[in-house]
Amino acid sequence: MGLGMMLGAHLTPRALGRIEQADVVFVAVSDPLVEQWVQGMHPDVRSLQPLYAEGKSRHDTYREMAAMMLAEVRAGKRVCGVFYGHPGVFAQAPHRAVAMAREEGFEASMEPGVSAEDCLYADLGIDPGEFGCQHYEASQLMFYRRRLDTSAYLVIWQPGVAGDRSYRRFSTPASHRKLLVDLLAVDYPLDHECTIYEAATLPIQTPRIERTSLGSLADARLDAQSTLVLPPCKPLRRNEALLERLAAIDSPA
Ligand code: SAM
Repeated sequence: MGLGMMLGAHLTPRALGRIEQADVVFVAVSDPLVEQWVQGMHPDVRSLQPLYAEGKSRHDTYREMAAMMLAEVRAGKRVCGVFYGHPGVFAQAPHRAVAMAREEGFEASMEPGVSAEDCLYADLGIDPGEFGCQHYEASQLMFYRRRLDTSAYLVIWQPGVAGDRSYRRFSTPASHRKLLVDLLAVDYPLDHECTIYEAATLPIQTPRIERTSLGSLADARLDAQSTLVLPPCKPLRRNEALLERLAAIDSPA
């Protein structure tokens, strides 16, 4: 289940019910305060956070997270995995755990939560339906050939580890980010606006909304919780051919 982004603010009654009904609760949240909050909800809360380590592949970490949860499922326990945000958004371990449990014949489901994406729309005043909105993980965007639609919003997740081929780093340097900038500069002008966004995770915080230019991004501070947002740089273009076909259907000669 997903805790949402802000401590105490986004937990749904259904998600809380999942925690209360579980025999064992596993928790993977980056903020120790949030983990402490979850610890107070159930007598048997086990942290998955120590499975992360600099130099260790994140793929191994995610595999181990799923394996730890599955071991308790096989032992006959009702298991709840608690993740910050939405457990199914840019998060491998929850999807893996649910799929593994189902493959082995156990009942498993995912309870959605408020993700960084949801907070982003609210804090930045963006409606993804206005121009469309594409979401990419920074490294995947760099490693694979994609076609960006510059008439839609572009949201880039995990820019703090952009270009990490090892999946072992907690951050990557400006040299890596410079390659991301070069890639984006194929489609966007270097003076195009780029917002560094960090949703508030405590009620006393305000979100980080730092507007910079694409050209300045390589040297900007990007942390584990940063997400990038680029507005469209081109207007929407009408698909005249399709509109004509629709017109022909709507008013046949
Ligand atoms: N499951 C999470 C969710 O629902 O938002 C996303 C987890 S993903 C592994 C981590 C990435 O989410 C970060 O690199 C960043 O792009 C984004 N993220 C995490 N915390 C954030 C925050 N407080 N504000 C904005 N983006 C955040």
